Amino acid sequence: MDRPQSWQARADAWSLYGFTDLPSVHRRGAVVLTHGEGPYVVDVDGNRYLDANSGLWNMVAGFDHKGLAEAAKAQYDRFPGYHALFGRMSDQTVMLSEKLVEVSPFDRGKVFYTNSGSEANDTMVKMLWFLHASEGNPQRRKILTRSNAYHGVTAVSASMTGKPYNSAFGLPLPGFIHLTCPHYWGFGEAGESEEQFTQRLARELEDTILREGADTIAGFFGEPVMGAGGVIPPSSGYFQAVLPILRRHAIPMIADEVICGFGRTGNTWGCQTYGFMPDAIISSKNLTAGLFPMGAVILGPDLADRVQAAAEKFEEFPHGFTASGHPVGCAIALKAIDVVMNEGLAENVRRLAPRMEAGLRAIMQRCTHIGELRGVGFMWALEAVQDRASKTPFDGALSVSERIANACTDVGLICRPLGQSIVLCPPFILTEAQMDEMLDKLEQGLVRVFAELP
Ligand SMILES: *Cc1c(COP(=O)(O)O)cnc(C)c1O
Repeated sequence: MDRPQSWQARADAWSLYGFTDLPSVHRRGAVVLTHGEGPYVVDVDGNRYLDANSGLWNMVAGFDHKGLAEAAKAQYDRFPGYHALFGRMSDQTVMLSEKLVEVSPFDRGKVFYTNSGSEANDTMVKMLWFLHASEGNPQRRKILTRSNAYHGVTAVSASMTGKPYNSAFGLPLPGFIHLTCPHYWGFGEAGESEEQFTQRLARELEDTILREGADTIAGFFGEPVMGAGGVIPPSSGYFQAVLPILRRHAIPMIADEVICGFGRTGNTWGCQTYGFMPDAIISSKNLTAGLFPMGAVILGPDLADRVQAAAEKFEEFPHGFTASGHPVGCAIALKAIDVVMNEGLAENVRRLAPRMEAGLRAIMQRCTHIGELRGVGFMWALEAVQDRASKTPFDGALSVSERIANACTDVGLICRPLGQSIVLCPPFILTEAQMDEMLDKLEQGLVRVFAELP
């Protein structure tokens, strides 16, 4: 076997890249990382990068938090692995469920564990199918989500994800319906106010329910702020317009808080930032501050009672993963929740979010090729446009956002291209000086790329 020598060639040879722009990685080589320090990561050549994406939204306490690593080690020493099935579960699992319900917006509820956000969404869909069938409504199977939504990549959660690339897999599966994305700047019509836009989306929801038949719909899933869709906060009054319609038709509303949960928007939950009460919450990513693959379905009182009743009737809830409620994952999650809520991380997001927004606004003022700045808390996106007034996008063939991200990497900043936008979602531990460094490096990348473009 011929063995390539460099880290980049070895990565190319033996690893299949997921969600990676292949022309770009072939030209530049993969960034191979060895370790991290606070919000920075370091590659095999010793280059340091400020990771303005917290890994993938999840490493909110940075890359070398001692307390989190110690909690993991202590649990590995004490009881390194177990499932949560057949009437057994670890003490850590018991404690985490208790904690999750305590910090949830619900006054009571029940928790079920998975290994990822995708599996948590899949699990929630199966719970809805299970409970509707048990209640005598087996035809209640359709799932409502929005275009540009991101709910994961397994076959069901990918069907919920409203991205064009899913057609490459022949997805979505039948019965997954995508409503209009609540992005006013992107989808508002000429002369339509934001309030009118929201009302139009509410009418679309009602019309869809009436057309499909409410008694064929299992549930509605929505991210409080769409993350991988390009950081899209809802249009004003969106959830207040949508929720009464869902309630009227007895359609459960599931908040996918995989990104928003645990502080990203400035409150513990995104639904608190936007003032609505879902029927269940999906959590993952920062649940373990990125130190363990874990997802959780947190059912509010009504769904907890109904899924429990359906399970009693069937004599079990026939679902669960080998590593569901893994004791090490649960011990890390308990510590991560404590770190985020009680070590000043959530507080730091609230304190520095205005500085982040103001810095990005100032950049937008200086860069005419930024069409929109959108976000909340510690999650923001800048949308690149050829022309701001007419919102004319750049030619897709120019790969503008990919170029900006690459230019930023060259100056030591990791940020993510998403469509024509650049996403920034830094770790919650960022200091003011690191925030300014992030903004400064971002602007260097933007200026360089905009100067090169025709
Ligand atoms: C990342 C993400 C998921 C999927 O989580 P995985 O752990 O990657 O499977 C689901 N929903 C949202 C909102 C996400 O951002």
